[in-house]
Amino acid sequence: MSLPPIQSNSSLQDSAPLKHKHLSKPHLSSPISSSLSMGSESDIERILFTESDIAKRVSDLATEISSDLRFSADAVVFVGVATGAFLFIADLVRRIHAPITVDFIRAESYGSGTESCGDVRISCDLKVDVTGKHVVLVEDIVDTGKTLSHLISYLEKKGVSSVSVCAFLDKPSRRKVEVKLVGSGKFYSGFECPDYFVVGYGMDYAELYRNLPYVGILKPEMYTK
Ligand code: 5GP
Ligand code: MG
Repeated sequence: MSLPPIQSNSSLQDSAPLKHKHLSKPHLSSPISSSLSMGSESDIERILFTESDIAKRVSDLATEISSDLRFSADAVVFVGVATGAFLFIADLVRRIHAPITVDFIRAESYGSGTESCGDVRISCDLKVDVTGKHVVLVEDIVDTGKTLSHLISYLEKKGVSSVSVCAFLDKPSRRKVEVKLVGSGKFYSGFECPDYFVVGYGMDYAELYRNLPYVGILKPEMYTK
């Protein structure tokens, strides 16, 4: 999927473009109390994917997945990775025309502060029994691949028939771990994302910005000051 042209946030017409792409990522688990003045749309440098870009792409993904599931005899389990995938999975599943069940899993990783170290912990487990089921793991963004790899191994140990991945965004340039699917699983991805720290459409910084209907690049000064 090719990247749409980068659009300026209409409220930020005068903002200068980012000069350095490879700024270190912010601390993903920064305390909410340190961000009382944050969380507004003016903190967004540029919009990468608009609401209509997203709606169109999610609809196309749902069509593709529905088509792939049409011969599946059993209900497929869509597992959203909380919290970041909550909007994506909600938009996706309402367009899937096949019997499915929906559940959530929560994974947390601890690292140096600039990226996941791979020490991933499942902090909220599934309710649905996935043994012998086909699972579609729905994730907001694949970065190093460590979180997804851990979740896939976890599901494999539960005896799933297959694991597919449906990632809203993919940053292949940042991959450190190959994401290995299970059985007949497929990898679906919404958009390829350039190496910026992005927020919106479920994705946060310090638990803020998840409610933005678009995906934008967070101004680096929001996490470097
Ligand atoms: P991983 O490095 O394990 O592939 O990604 C771990 C998690 O970090 C992702 O599931 C996502 O929640 C978060 N993450 C990675 N890149 C970004 C980003 O650009 N923005 C936001 N908000 N979260 C990110
Ligand atoms: Mg995530």
